Amino acid sequence: MLTRRNFGLAGIGLVAAAAGMRTVTSHANEENMSTTTETFEITKTPEEWRKILTPEQYYVLREHGTERAGTSPLDKTYADGTYDCAACALPLFSSETKFNSGTGWPSFYKPLDNAIGTTVDKGFFMTRTEVHCRRCGGHLGHVFPDGPPPTGLRYCMNGVALKFVPKSDKSTG
Ligand SMILES: [Zn+2]
Repeated sequence: MLTRRNFGLAGIGLVAAAAGMRTVTSHANEENMSTTTETFEITKTPEEWRKILTPEQYYVLREHGTERAGTSPLDKTYADGTYDCAACALPLFSSETKFNSGTGWPSFYKPLDNAIGTTVDKGFFMTRTEVHCRRCGGHLGHVFPDGPPPTGLRYCMNGVALKFVPKSDKSTG
């Protein structure tokens, strides 16, 4: 019979085993194996996501894919507005923090408050910090420590995971 204490130890063992497995599998497929145990406000089945996302959006947001550099029109967009999650429409970034990183992906030095979550993505040759939507868990891109002031961070985003919403000409200016 499992005592409470034994059960706890078994639980720790399971977590360790899962972590070990993840390290092994992520070697085989770096891009796709960043799993997370976070729970999100918005959860849908793969079938439900496929109904509302384009194949390209699904590949990036749900399968941690990466769009080809230079393919997003948002890379060269500098109009005033916000960049919302393409899956759940949560505002994620402001045009005020966007900069030209020269990478071919839309880049920002800071996300909006309470917009994103991160996980550590351990690949074979490098460790990266994965960035996802706080509300639906959709994969957005990665954050690197080589951005401009004031944060020194570079949020390297897939444009296909974002929806640009131009600032409306209302009186708030
Ligand atoms: Zn979202």
